[in-house]
Amino acid sequence: MNKKQKTLLWRIIIAAIFFVPLYLISEDIVHVEMPKWAIILLFLIPYLLVGYDILRKAFNGIRHGQVFDENFLMTVATIGAIVLGEYGEGVAVMLLYQVGELFQSYAVGKSRRNISELMDIRPDYANLEQPDGSTEQVDPDEVEIGSIIVVNPGEKIPLDGVVVEGASALNTSALTGESKPREVGVDEDVLSGSINMTGVLRIRTTTEFDESTASKILDLVENAASRKSKSENFISKFAKYYTPIVCYCALALAILPPLFVMLTHIGQDAYASTGALWSTWVLRACTFLVISCPCAVVISIPLSFFAGLGGASNQGVLIKGSNYLETLSQVKVVAFDKTGTITKGNFAVTAVHHSPLDDETLLEYAALAECHSSHPISRSLREAYGKHIDPSRVSDVQEISGHGVIAKVDGRSVAIGNEKLMAKVGAEYHPCSHVGTIIHVALDGDYCGHIVISDELKENSKEAMAALKRAGVAKTVMLTGDAKSVAEKVAAEVGLTDYRAELLPADKVKCVEDLLAECTGNDRLAFVGDGINDAPVLSRADIGIAMGALGSDAAIEAADVVLMDDDPLKIAKAIRISRKCLGIVKQNIVLALGVKLICLVLAAVGIANMWIAIIADVGVMILAVLNAIRCLFVKKL
Ligand code: ADP
Ligand code: MG
Repeated sequence: MNKKQKTLLWRIIIAAIFFVPLYLISEDIVHVEMPKWAIILLFLIPYLLVGYDILRKAFNGIRHGQVFDENFLMTVATIGAIVLGEYGEGVAVMLLYQVGELFQSYAVGKSRRNISELMDIRPDYANLEQPDGSTEQVDPDEVEIGSIIVVNPGEKIPLDGVVVEGASALNTSALTGESKPREVGVDEDVLSGSINMTGVLRIRTTTEFDESTASKILDLVENAASRKSKSENFISKFAKYYTPIVCYCALALAILPPLFVMLTHIGQDAYASTGALWSTWVLRACTFLVISCPCAVVISIPLSFFAGLGGASNQGVLIKGSNYLETLSQVKVVAFDKTGTITKGNFAVTAVHHSPLDDETLLEYAALAECHSSHPISRSLREAYGKHIDPSRVSDVQEISGHGVIAKVDGRSVAIGNEKLMAKVGAEYHPCSHVGTIIHVALDGDYCGHIVISDELKENSKEAMAALKRAGVAKTVMLTGDAKSVAEKVAAEVGLTDYRAELLPADKVKCVEDLLAECTGNDRLAFVGDGINDAPVLSRADIGIAMGALGSDAAIEAADVVLMDDDPLKIAKAIRISRKCLGIVKQNIVLALGVKLICLVLAAVGIANMWIAIIADVGVMILAVLNAIRCLFVKKL
């Protein structure tokens, strides 16, 4: 509890201590001889103590022309009750209303804190190595790229980097939701926000603090709450019209029935001309106001979404806003990129064919030409070559999406890519009969063989498609730039419903548009990619899901949902989380509005009094908030 909440709690307790004996006396349950005015004055003490801020807010609202809000409702209703002589009720309503407010602010604070705890990845300091070998604790903000930092066991890695010395196991669960520790050693990349568990690591930093994975993810999470879903927007609009309507209804309830009785009973009925008639209806109107206070709905819906986002990030699924939770719950078609999404993107060189050069030299040209690309193919070729690459031997690099790379290596023009690229540079290539990704190489326009590389499926790809099917996704389509034979094999192995091959990035956009046109009604299409050259598709789909985004900036920016580890199984999980969250939102709306409606009718006919009204209101709110918090907890699939 923070300080404000504690103060409110004390105000409630003290007011209650005053209130209870006074109430017993005023109801004559305990008999104490006391003049009426004294009781009224004494009642004002707990009333003002617990309600002064509500009164002040209502007053300020009126002064600024924003009359109709919850504070106004409470103020009018309680003052109305007190003026009509129902002191006990008036004070009790204010007291219970504040109990509800306290509970709500505690719950909201708690779920927010939960989420930031889940996302406890903000590093506090970095141990910067000094020229003399000692270390100094500095702000991560001050560390320059290329500095050496030391991370001891138990510390958070403050900046992205490469291990230069040491080996350890990292806990990456805050980043990926994956609880298994990741083993790292020399030359391996480490991400900020992971926790070093076992060994001392010396790390050469590769990013500045603002650009580091931890900062980017935190930004993303902090901004998520500001992207509102349709239901949330509906609620704020709803509150804008609802409260004034309720106030006018209450006014009508206070005036019209007694007026009607008076007019129809002129001269016949003594009751019609007394104040008792008026006070009955004004009190009913006040009860009506208390009931109509929309707190439960207004608070529980954003809270449900917030908890849904938190529950998802706990599982390693970052959703950039509650609007995407809504879309995700309606996904019926999922389109996939192949490399890096369904397959690991770690190609192994399986053969080199038709090369006049020896294999090693061909691979050297290939690795050099690819030295600037971040495509999984080029990474794999560099790894296969395995030796140090001197970037100064390479110039004029052109990466052509969906084709390959053209570059100058040692002054010779190297073209490396698929058949389309060979056709482009006019080299006569040999088609290959192997099933695998074929990377052709041309030197100065002359063909000099191809490298056959092959990829592995991710462990969970097959299970992921089955899980999607179970989650009601009717169509799973793979869109790939790779050859048809490879696409066909992969599609059959993992159980996709459809595939399209040999697509350029622009063709992928076209395919997604065609698939979008086939979607009917509320069906939505998701595209899942690894963010390398598929940013346009990610943004064209109803919802873009980026895979393995740790480290790939383009994907974090273009996608709406980021799966922090490369696990395709998380797609179905994200869909389930979103459905659960939207289900809870609906339950809350029905519960809150249903109970309100019943109470309103009861109050209008005079059955429900203010006690029932406020207890129903606070009760519904507490139920709705507890229900909303269920979104935080997601069953394992
Ligand atoms: P995917 O749809 O499987 O992600 P891409 O659209 O990234 O594939 O690439 C399609 C094809 O283009 C690859 O299979 C490869 O033949 C060729 N290609 C793309 N980038 C490169 C590169 N950097 N080096 C060599 N070939 C490449
Ligand atoms: Mg790709």
